[in-house]
Amino acid sequence: MSLLDLHLLGSPVLRTQSEEVEEVDEEVRTFIDDLFESMDAAKGIGLAANQVGVARRVAVVDTQGTRLAMVNPVIVSAEGKSKGEEGCLSIPDLYADVTRPDRIVLEALDREGAKYRLEAEGLLARAIQHEIDHLDGILFVDYLSPLKRKLLVTRWKKDHRGEDLIKPLGPVTARS
Ligand SMILES: [Zn+2]
Repeated sequence: MSLLDLHLLGSPVLRTQSEEVEEVDEEVRTFIDDLFESMDAAKGIGLAANQVGVARRVAVVDTQGTRLAMVNPVIVSAEGKSKGEEGCLSIPDLYADVTRPDRIVLEALDREGAKYRLEAEGLLARAIQHEIDHLDGILFVDYLSPLKRKLLVTRWKKDHRGEDLIKPLGPVTARS
């Protein structure tokens, strides 16, 4: 297993529509393992392929005791509305409230390529929707009002000016 490089806001792959996976083979399984390892290293609750520079429909989530690999995920139904704070490993330090459906039914393939269906609510439902959005080139800031988005993104870009858009997720080093 290996840690993958994280792509930050401004990297074009974050705005790319990812392609369906035709077969869950050994390469896809290794990629899923790398996504999990990278998500854990970054202390995230989800990570999508686009975020590591790969435009394929694969993502992982780990929250509320549920650890999920999702290949070709689809939300087949959604109900309710809830507002909650979101952040994104690709836009570090930027947080904002986003309103989304509160309960969803997900269909996806697992790490073995078997189809599953899962009902989710609360933070798990939010994380799944956030990750699937990544596969469609959508970021959580897209849900904010144009004014708020502009304000937050402009400030973020200023704060992160000069930083690389691709950041290695190396082992955690001691903070000085
Ligand atoms: Zn994200």
